[in-house]
Amino acid sequence: MNLYIHFPFCRSKCAYCALHSYVGRSEKERDQYVDGILHQLHQLFPSTPLPSSPFPLPSSLFPLPSSLFPLPSSPISTLYFGGGTPALCNLQPLLDFLAPHLSPALNPQPSSPNSQLKTLNSKLPTEFTVELNPLDVSSELLRQLKAGGVNRLSMGVQNFDEAILRAMGRPHTAEQAQTAWRQIREAGFDNAGIDLICGWPGERQNGAVSDSWKRTLDAAAELAPDHCSVYTLILEPKTRLARDVASGRVTLPSDDVALAELAAAEQALAAIGLERYEISSFAKPGWECRHNLATWRGEDYIGIGDGACSREGNAESRVIFRLRLLKEGFSPAQAAVDFPELAPRVAEWCATLDRFVAEGLLTSHPAPLKQSPVTRNSKPETTYCLTPRGTEVCDTILAELV
Ligand code: SF4
Repeated sequence: MNLYIHFPFCRSKCAYCALHSYVGRSEKERDQYVDGILHQLHQLFPSTPLPSSPFPLPSSLFPLPSSLFPLPSSPISTLYFGGGTPALCNLQPLLDFLAPHLSPALNPQPSSPNSQLKTLNSKLPTEFTVELNPLDVSSELLRQLKAGGVNRLSMGVQNFDEAILRAMGRPHTAEQAQTAWRQIREAGFDNAGIDLICGWPGERQNGAVSDSWKRTLDAAAELAPDHCSVYTLILEPKTRLARDVASGRVTLPSDDVALAELAAAEQALAAIGLERYEISSFAKPGWECRHNLATWRGEDYIGIGDGACSREGNAESRVIFRLRLLKEGFSPAQAAVDFPELAPRVAEWCATLDRFVAEGLLTSHPAPLKQSPVTRNSKPETTYCLTPRGTEVCDTILAELV
């Protein structure tokens, strides 16, 4: 079972962020939220007793669905506390409740290659990730998390340029991020990563990668993270950044500049041994985030908390198609076999994909099918693979398929 718990609280709202989170909620409200999460977890694990609670249920502040899924029979293979800022809540009751349901460590660290992760997931210890803000980090919190079975940390840094951090509305400095990172390592977390955002507005010479971004990549490399996510800035509606762009106070760089910064990140991270394993994700081989891989592969997951969603049963075609485009190539005929309701679209897919081949975003290869081919298309045994440029615009290609 893959389990995600959302903590929708932040110290302040970052200028670019449209994620679901509240600012300024009291400690009591946050405790009440944790209590609601515990009650939902109790639906999944009814044999684990709930701690006594001072709060009446249901919570009126954070309405939570009354039922989730049939009880899972499998142990937790991946567990992810995301946000928001999880550490703004008292996590101890949740760590205590979940501890009996974590798989014991069979190996000290994940070591299986990507392709085997799905089959090995059940044999590996629970991958238990907590997202952190640099300001959260203290030796006390790190001890608490380690004792609670957390074995993977993901720290949002976004940039190491102080002026950009301020413009982003991040509540921490670059130095605080570096100090927090040292504490994470000193506390013995050997599976830890950072997040960065490329394509932030700023001065650039002729559309080139900015010196500021190069310095950020140098600073990131100095930390030697095991994992790094590099997100391309997306202008989300109703954010402070969107208002600033609309009013002309801020100008976004072109997509080409953002992609050049992503490419620079790929190069800088490759130099410290991190390989790209998804559009925005880089990791040391064997240190890919198993939780993310599971969701990208279309495995079920249960999401608990305000704003969280779950997936049960067959993954949507979109998830599968995305994975195939990124990993093994996309075969229209195979897709029609796996999703028969979409078979009438094979000819249309082929025409679309051939157009992307002509534009240099895909390459096409003859490829045998795992199952019988469908006959209603002109090129039933063609597999399409992304070029480096196609990888950068993978979601645009995908949007024309599904
Ligand atoms: S800390 Fe994260 S979730 Fe909170 S506002 Fe900033 S980017 Fe959004």
